[in-house]
Amino acid sequence: MKKVKYILNPTFLSKLMMALAIVLTFVAIMVVVTHRGGTIISQHEPAECKTVVVVASGDTLGKILMAQGLNNNDVNTIADILKKDAGISTLRAGSDKIEFVRADEESPVSKIVLVPSPWKQVELTCAENGGWNCNTVDIERDTRAIYKSGEIQNGDSFYLAGIRAGIPAGVLIDVYDLLAFEMDFERDIRAGQHFSVLYEENFSGGEKIDNGRVLAVQFEALRGNVKMYRFKKSDGTSGYYDENGNGAIKSLKRTPINNAKVTSSFSTKRKHPVLGFTRAHKGVDFRASTGTPIPAAGAGRVVARGFNRGHGNYIKIRHNGSYETLYAHMSKFAKGVVVGTAVRQGQTIGYVGSTGLSTGPHLHYEVIKNGTHVNPLTVKLPAISNLGDKDKAKFLEYRKVLDNGMETLSRNPNLFIQM
Ligand SMILES: [Zn+2]
Repeated sequence: MKKVKYILNPTFLSKLMMALAIVLTFVAIMVVVTHRGGTIISQHEPAECKTVVVVASGDTLGKILMAQGLNNNDVNTIADILKKDAGISTLRAGSDKIEFVRADEESPVSKIVLVPSPWKQVELTCAENGGWNCNTVDIERDTRAIYKSGEIQNGDSFYLAGIRAGIPAGVLIDVYDLLAFEMDFERDIRAGQHFSVLYEENFSGGEKIDNGRVLAVQFEALRGNVKMYRFKKSDGTSGYYDENGNGAIKSLKRTPINNAKVTSSFSTKRKHPVLGFTRAHKGVDFRASTGTPIPAAGAGRVVARGFNRGHGNYIKIRHNGSYETLYAHMSKFAKGVVVGTAVRQGQTIGYVGSTGLSTGPHLHYEVIKNGTHVNPLTVKLPAISNLGDKDKAKFLEYRKVLDNGMETLSRNPNLFIQM
């Protein structure tokens, strides 16, 4: 680990040393014993006998449990408990591991441990009456805030510039999703613009496990700097806010599909590519390949789903307040999305196509405000939530800390913030 800690938490070093010690002990007592179906690893400790089974392709929970000497009754009970208490209904081949604990090699299984995510452990213990008890344990994580910054170069997309800046693709998609509330990625991107991202990296036992959430984003957009910060309110819920503490998550997204190029913008007059005569273009066209999922721009209810000559397959959603959105030229609708369906922001409602009057696969997207078509890329959109006075004061303090942290990290790229 080359990185040096940005001093916020003095107990960090001792925690790291302890974690390191635990990892070394763990590695020392792990012995690979045999291969039978999945990879089986055994750990021999004085008191009990442990067998770890890595789920192999074609394995079922039943098959794995029966191979460990459990009966049909146990299998059914355990499958029920896992589904009900731990939300586990499927096993992932190659990554899921199941640990079986016995008092000794001859004894029946007394405990089963599953690790469905790096951050959760599910323990099933055999009760005296033969039933099973379920206990879910959260695994402690060590989170570091990492800072990355970059600059748009000639001919760049934001995505390319972000990858070049070292931002992991998954984090970049989250950043995109956030900026899509504020920016038009087609027209707001220019060479020389700077951006920066503060995001989490999660460690367990000193090893990086995954990337976490985006904590802050800054982008020098044409219409002014866009800044967003993730903040936890006193009621425990989290959201993104601009530098003044106004909600950054808008009721609608300007660009429903990430990274899609605007091929035709909103205008009251344009020559229709198929009809040939001049006609208003009441929406924005985004180029995307056939089959690309179309996410709902905001939460709402489907009020129309059908086909007409111009729009082809289309869906119209009514959102809270005075907004409606329309999505046209779909190749097909998403399963279960019908008139009356309540959809969440980002939920797939259909797939890009070229049905109706269309020259090629694209999404035609309209925003209708109080019955009038408006430009989705420029219309002023309401925020989903704003902060109360008390939270706002706390937010402004927190924002200062983050800003200072990012300022320090921008000068020392090898540092991180211990969360
Ligand atoms: Zn269009």
